[in-house]
Amino acid sequence: MSDQDLRIENVTKTFGGFTAVDDLTLTIPDGSFFALLGASGCGKTTTLRMVAGLEEPTAGRITLGGTDITRTRPYKRPVNTVFQSYALFPHLSVADNVAFGLRRKGVGRKDADRKVAEMLDLVQLGGYGPRRPAQLSGGQQQRVALARALVNSPEVLLLDEPLGALDLKLRRQMQIELKRIQTEVGITFVHVTHDQEEAMTMADTVAVMQAGRIEQLGAPAEMYEFPASAFVANFLGQSNLIPAEVTGHADGDVTVDAHGNRLALPAARCRVTSGSALLGVRPEKLHLCDGLDAVPSGHAAVRGVITDTSFTGVSTQYLVRAPWGSELTVFVPNSGLASPAAPGAEVAVHWLPAHSFLVGS
Ligand code: ATP
Repeated sequence: MSDQDLRIENVTKTFGGFTAVDDLTLTIPDGSFFALLGASGCGKTTTLRMVAGLEEPTAGRITLGGTDITRTRPYKRPVNTVFQSYALFPHLSVADNVAFGLRRKGVGRKDADRKVAEMLDLVQLGGYGPRRPAQLSGGQQQRVALARALVNSPEVLLLDEPLGALDLKLRRQMQIELKRIQTEVGITFVHVTHDQEEAMTMADTVAVMQAGRIEQLGAPAEMYEFPASAFVANFLGQSNLIPAEVTGHADGDVTVDAHGNRLALPAARCRVTSGSALLGVRPEKLHLCDGLDAVPSGHAAVRGVITDTSFTGVSTQYLVRAPWGSELTVFVPNSGLASPAAPGAEVAVHWLPAHSFLVGS
């Protein structure tokens, strides 16, 4: 934590009788790349708009660097926003689009020109200044929007699904690019997205939102490996959730029964410590073999029947019907050697217990 952090304190926003943001409390560290991730309608944009000053909280307060900005007018906040629709001025050149905010602030021509050139270099559009937005690709227009939002040196940059209009390949390129730019300028980026891969690729910290609240907050890898709930496990990638029962505790471990398997999991990997639970394992942590006899020692395993296979290039995805009726998803890396097991084949699915986590059912 630092004095320059952005703090959202007990913020609620209601529209009529509907609560879009529900008593939200969040500290966004100064200089971090923070992602608000959630399904459509969970309140991400409303949260961002309150930080921008485009929406007033019904309750609670927002502070930046210790200053209460809850009711500060949008243009008086040291905050800028990049939207999915780039909202560039079509009749102005790229350079004039970027210079717009500087002109309004009364910055002199020479200083403005220098700053614009610096920003265009930053977004790798040096030399594009004289062009009109219509002469640029979608990805280039998005970079101009970014340069325009950064030129005033805001303390916080808000990004509302800024890559949503780009095709997948370009989006992946821009994710890496945005991360590079954030590292270079060092200011706080708050990025709203419903794309979990995008959030995990770019952000230092991800907050998963649901129904106006934070479901879990943390570093992407930590949340992926150790989700707090079945909802987060499924929202951040895919997860197999196997019905299980906590049977006891021993030496700091939680012992769990899951379909004939007795597992001991470190307490740190368990969100529940008694009663019924769900044992989670990611598809890439599961392995297939011919039958229970072939399972390596120390692995947990269940029998199953393959119901579907799909080759995805990097891996083959298998669906395996488990004894309790649901299907397990298994990703097997494509080694180019093994011939895939066909639907109908009886197999054992096995995994290292240390690769499991336990969440509430
Ligand atoms: P999306 O990814 O679809 O933009 P979101 O998570 O950003 O979704 P918000 O735009 O914050 O969600 O909306 C949260 C909820 O608040 C939604 O149910 C939405 O319909 C409602 N809402 C947002 N703005 C208004 C408004 N001005 N008036 C009434 N309801 C609103």
